[in-house]
Amino acid sequence: MPDIFDKILDHMIGAFTFDLGRYLIAAGTLSILLWAFSKWSEARRIQKRKASFADYKREFLSSMRTVFVFGATTISTVLFIESGWVNIDQSAIDWPVFALQVAAIIVAHDAYFYWMHRALHLKSMFRFAHLHHHKSRTPTPWAAYSFATFEAVSESAFVPAYLLLVSVIGAPMYDFAIFIFLAHMIARNVMGHAGVELFPAGWTRSPLGWITTTTHHDLHHSQGNSNFGLYFTWWDRMMGTEHPQYEARFDAVAKPVCIFHAQAAA
Ligand SMILES: [Zn+2]
Ligand SMILES: [Zn+2]
Repeated sequence: MPDIFDKILDHMIGAFTFDLGRYLIAAGTLSILLWAFSKWSEARRIQKRKASFADYKREFLSSMRTVFVFGATTISTVLFIESGWVNIDQSAIDWPVFALQVAAIIVAHDAYFYWMHRALHLKSMFRFAHLHHHKSRTPTPWAAYSFATFEAVSESAFVPAYLLLVSVIGAPMYDFAIFIFLAHMIARNVMGHAGVELFPAGWTRSPLGWITTTTHHDLHHSQGNSNFGLYFTWWDRMMGTEHPQYEARFDAVAKPVCIFHAQAAA
């Protein structure tokens, strides 16, 4: 068997376990928490409509297709590393550099996602590339990977492209920084699809209000033509694509609710 097939087989189990595992852990943990604190989550539900069993089933099954695409990308990235095209910093971690690496890849991914997402909404692209994700009008945490194949490939291209870029400019990342980025990515992804506002009351007017809330992405699913951003509100604000009632809609659901008594505070 040619060498390359041996290498792919070597990495296959690890790659698919990682990509499936982070989806199941993140979506599963959030679903369990929303269920365990159901009175709290009902009080903060963003839409009146509830996701149906068919929605959950579609989201889960198409996420399995995405796991396959992401796993293939993870294998390619590992092969890039083994072939020396992508470098990983193996030295002892310098924590300020580590923090900078994590912040830089998150900011870069936010920009990549915004523009990729705008492209997927072009008339010529939407039907075959992105309509599938928007079948989740009322998203659940399981919609986190619910993509058409084209979108899954576009989403997954970022990590190898970014790692190649930082290797070329001589600033390779620590493997732990990549891991933290991937963990943050899936955590924010399932939070954006929670269907329940998870951020505290007053968040959008706080000093951290530029970090997107669940309502931000939920409005994108229910209305479709605004709020294209992922982690931050920056690009939507710069490009004039933020939903005009974003803050009002957030305030309407992000009531201060006691997690134990699940009653909206006066
Ligand atoms: Zn969209
Ligand atoms: Zn979405």
